[in-house]
Amino acid sequence: MLDILKKTLKTGCQTTKYPDVPDVAPEGFRGMPQLLSDKCTFCGECVKVCPPGVITIAEKSHEKTLALSYCGCIFCGRCEEVCQSDAVKLTQEYELASLAKEDLITIIRRKL
Ligand code: SF4
Ligand code: SF4
Repeated sequence: MLDILKKTLKTGCQTTKYPDVPDVAPEGFRGMPQLLSDKCTFCGECVKVCPPGVITIAEKSHEKTLALSYCGCIFCGRCEEVCQSDAVKLTQEYELASLAKEDLITIIRRKL
Protein backbone atom coordinates (compact mmCIF):
# COMPACT_ATOMS: atom_id res chain seq x y z
CA MET A 1 0.00 0.00 0.00
CA LEU A 2 2.79 2.38 0.93
CA ASP A 3 4.58 1.51 -2.29
CA ILE A 4 1.51 2.41 -4.33
CA LEU A 5 1.14 5.70 -2.46
CA LYS A 6 4.80 6.57 -3.03
CA LYS A 7 4.50 5.73 -6.73
CA THR A 8 1.34 7.82 -7.07
CA LEU A 9 2.96 10.83 -5.43
CA LYS A 10 5.95 10.46 -7.72
CA THR A 11 4.01 10.21 -11.00
CA GLY A 12 1.43 12.85 -10.11
CA CYS A 13 -2.02 13.13 -11.70
CA GLN A 14 -2.18 11.39 -15.07
CA THR A 15 -5.84 11.99 -15.89
CA THR A 16 -7.50 15.06 -17.40
CA LYS A 17 -9.60 17.49 -15.37
CA TYR A 18 -12.71 16.86 -17.49
CA PRO A 19 -15.50 17.85 -16.95
CA ASP A 20 -14.19 20.73 -14.81
CA VAL A 21 -11.91 21.66 -17.70
CA PRO A 22 -13.53 21.15 -21.16
CA ASP A 23 -11.88 18.48 -23.28
CA VAL A 24 -11.72 19.66 -26.90
CA ALA A 25 -12.40 16.94 -29.47
CA PRO A 26 -9.58 16.28 -31.97
CA GLU A 27 -9.53 17.54 -35.56
CA GLY A 28 -11.88 15.50 -37.77
CA PHE A 29 -14.02 14.35 -34.84
CA ARG A 30 -17.60 13.64 -35.95
CA GLY A 31 -19.84 15.19 -33.34
CA MET A 32 -23.29 16.79 -33.23
CA PRO A 33 -24.60 17.67 -36.71
CA GLN A 34 -25.71 21.29 -37.02
CA LEU A 35 -28.34 22.47 -39.52
CA LEU A 36 -27.76 25.90 -41.07
CA SER A 37 -31.12 27.43 -41.88
CA ASP A 38 -29.72 30.23 -44.05
CA LYS A 39 -28.15 27.71 -46.47
CA CYS A 40 -30.68 24.87 -46.52
CA THR A 41 -32.78 24.53 -49.70
CA PHE A 42 -35.01 21.83 -48.15
CA CYS A 43 -34.11 19.46 -50.99
CA GLY A 44 -34.45 16.40 -48.73
CA GLU A 45 -31.25 14.64 -49.84
CA CYS A 46 -30.00 14.28 -46.25
CA VAL A 47 -33.31 12.67 -45.30
CA LYS A 48 -32.84 9.98 -47.98
CA VAL A 49 -29.33 8.96 -46.89
CA CYS A 50 -29.56 9.11 -43.09
CA PRO A 51 -29.11 5.43 -42.03
CA PRO A 52 -31.18 5.55 -38.80
CA GLY A 53 -33.75 7.92 -40.32
CA VAL A 54 -33.43 10.66 -37.74
CA ILE A 55 -33.84 13.53 -40.23
CA THR A 56 -37.36 14.37 -41.34
CA ILE A 57 -38.75 16.97 -43.71
CA ALA A 58 -42.30 18.29 -43.69
CA GLU A 59 -44.30 20.86 -45.62
CA LYS A 60 -47.38 22.63 -44.36
CA SER A 61 -49.39 25.35 -46.06
CA HIS A 62 -47.24 28.14 -44.67
CA GLU A 63 -43.82 26.59 -44.01
CA LYS A 64 -41.27 23.84 -44.64
CA THR A 65 -39.44 22.26 -41.73
CA LEU A 66 -36.38 20.07 -41.47
CA ALA A 67 -35.90 18.29 -38.14
CA LEU A 68 -32.92 16.30 -36.90
CA SER A 69 -33.08 14.21 -33.74
CA TYR A 70 -29.84 13.47 -31.97
CA CYS A 71 -31.54 10.45 -30.39
CA GLY A 72 -30.36 7.68 -32.66
CA CYS A 73 -27.91 9.75 -34.71
CA ILE A 74 -24.84 7.61 -35.33
CA PHE A 75 -22.64 10.58 -36.35
CA CYS A 76 -21.80 8.93 -39.66
CA GLY A 77 -21.60 12.21 -41.56
CA ARG A 78 -23.66 11.03 -44.58
CA CYS A 79 -25.92 14.08 -44.30
CA GLU A 80 -22.91 16.40 -44.52
CA GLU A 81 -21.46 14.46 -47.46
CA VAL A 82 -24.57 14.68 -49.63
CA CYS A 83 -25.58 18.24 -48.85
CA GLN A 84 -24.75 20.36 -51.89
CA SER A 85 -25.49 23.57 -49.99
CA ASP A 86 -23.15 23.06 -47.03
CA ALA A 87 -26.24 23.38 -44.86
CA VAL A 88 -25.36 20.56 -42.47
CA LYS A 89 -22.07 20.37 -40.66
CA LEU A 90 -20.80 17.90 -38.11
CA THR A 91 -19.34 19.81 -35.18
CA GLN A 92 -16.90 18.83 -32.45
CA GLU A 93 -19.68 18.93 -29.84
CA TYR A 94 -20.17 15.60 -28.08
CA GLU A 95 -21.92 16.48 -24.83
CA LEU A 96 -25.48 15.57 -25.77
CA ALA A 97 -26.84 14.04 -22.58
CA SER A 98 -30.32 15.24 -21.72
CA LEU A 99 -33.22 14.27 -19.49
CA ALA A 100 -35.79 15.20 -22.13
CA LYS A 101 -35.93 13.73 -25.64
CA GLU A 102 -37.44 16.98 -26.94
CA ASP A 103 -34.23 18.84 -26.08
CA LEU A 104 -32.36 16.64 -28.52
CA ILE A 105 -34.26 17.76 -31.61
CA THR A 106 -33.12 20.64 -33.77
CA ILE A 107 -35.54 22.17 -36.29
CA ILE A 108 -35.06 24.73 -39.05
CA ARG A 109 -37.97 26.43 -40.85
CA ARG A 110 -38.61 28.27 -44.09
CA LYS A 111 -41.77 30.36 -44.59
CA LEU A 112 -43.56 29.72 -47.88
S1 SF4 B 1 -29.49 20.16 -45.13
FE1 SF4 B 1 -28.70 20.09 -47.23
S2 SF4 B 1 -29.33 18.07 -48.01
FE2 SF4 B 1 -30.55 18.48 -46.17
S3 SF4 B 1 -32.44 19.41 -46.97
FE3 SF4 B 1 -31.03 21.11 -46.44
S4 SF4 B 1 -29.96 21.54 -48.35
FE4 SF4 B 1 -30.91 19.53 -48.62
S1 SF4 C 1 -24.74 12.07 -38.99
FE1 SF4 C 1 -25.58 10.23 -39.97
S2 SF4 C 1 -27.08 9.48 -38.52
FE2 SF4 C 1 -26.62 11.56 -37.89
S3 SF4 C 1 -28.18 12.81 -38.90
FE3 SF4 C 1 -26.41 12.74 -40.28
S4 SF4 C 1 -26.81 11.04 -41.67
FE4 SF4 C 1 -28.18 10.81 -39.90
